[in-house]
Amino acid sequence: MPEFGQAFTTKMSVAHFKDEQWSEVQVQPLAPLNLHPATHVLHYSSTCFEGLKAYRWEDGSIHLFRYAENIKRLRNSARSLCLPVPSYELVECAIIDAVKSVVDEIPNLPGALYIRPTLIGSELNIGAAGRGSTEAILYVITSPVGDYFSGGIRPLKLLIDDENMRSTPKFGQVKTGGNYAASLESVTQARAEFNADQVLFCPDGQVQETGAANFIMIKNKTIITKSLDGSILPGITRDSLLKLAASSGYEIEELNYTVTELLSWLPESEAFMSGTAAVVSPVGSMIHEGIEYLVGGNGDVGEQTMQLRSALTAIQTGKTTDQWAWTSRL
Ligand SMILES: *Cc1c(COP(=O)(O)O)cnc(C)c1O
Repeated sequence: MPEFGQAFTTKMSVAHFKDEQWSEVQVQPLAPLNLHPATHVLHYSSTCFEGLKAYRWEDGSIHLFRYAENIKRLRNSARSLCLPVPSYELVECAIIDAVKSVVDEIPNLPGALYIRPTLIGSELNIGAAGRGSTEAILYVITSPVGDYFSGGIRPLKLLIDDENMRSTPKFGQVKTGGNYAASLESVTQARAEFNADQVLFCPDGQVQETGAANFIMIKNKTIITKSLDGSILPGITRDSLLKLAASSGYEIEELNYTVTELLSWLPESEAFMSGTAAVVSPVGSMIHEGIEYLVGGNGDVGEQTMQLRSALTAIQTGKTTDQWAWTSRL
């Protein structure tokens, strides 16, 4: 299977906002969008997206994971970007119809269908720099994905960046291309200079998250992660892991903490990144001011990290009871 994000199914769903109203959702063959070069999104980044997965369980049935949360988050992002906000029901219909239209293309476990709802400002007007787009396109494309760790789990190396910001204090909770663009230079430099996999953004020495995933530590039986204050993305994987961990006896500490604290905890801790694509990616080492620190003293994949990962994937794939009703059958 091609790398994550490069294979697509044959269908997409689309809805348009024009003349103050949304069209119905239409399923159509996957095809390029026809955009005028003056389209709002191409100049003023009026775009937001979501990422979620559907799984084909062993009995053949298809299940989505917590998609209501993705819909709420997409609508919040749309509001922040002054885009027309699609109703909950419209986004739900766009997701469900897109998945239903490609049921035969959903891989078996450990593969899944990655779903990418996207909303863009489609007004044809480069003069609208100072206001939201009055037209929009909502579309949902889907991508068959294999086992994220088919090559084995390799602990990641993170560069601690205590200078740059990934976003702004309030815009960090918006799932928008602009935040990715803002973090690219730092990530590219971290790769070139330190062979780092990702950057952990810690403006003014305050730990936040990486460019595309939340950052979580486990110290003894305590889960430590930055609180949701608008500066970081409220990850659905993060939320699920915190709930699972609490129910299996972990203390949960959502708080503000510094790079100094992080480094002092590191020898006796585990650390990982959380997000839909990989679910959990263990962190093995962290670089700060040119010095590499090994997580847990040895840089190995954390045992508790992998236990939490298994507990969550077991729910997503129907291998254990879903006490929170997080999965919904298509
Ligand atoms: C999407 C995203 C996450 C993870 O969110 P999930 O809902 O867990 O997939 C974390 N951080 C950023 C910046 C993101 O864009």
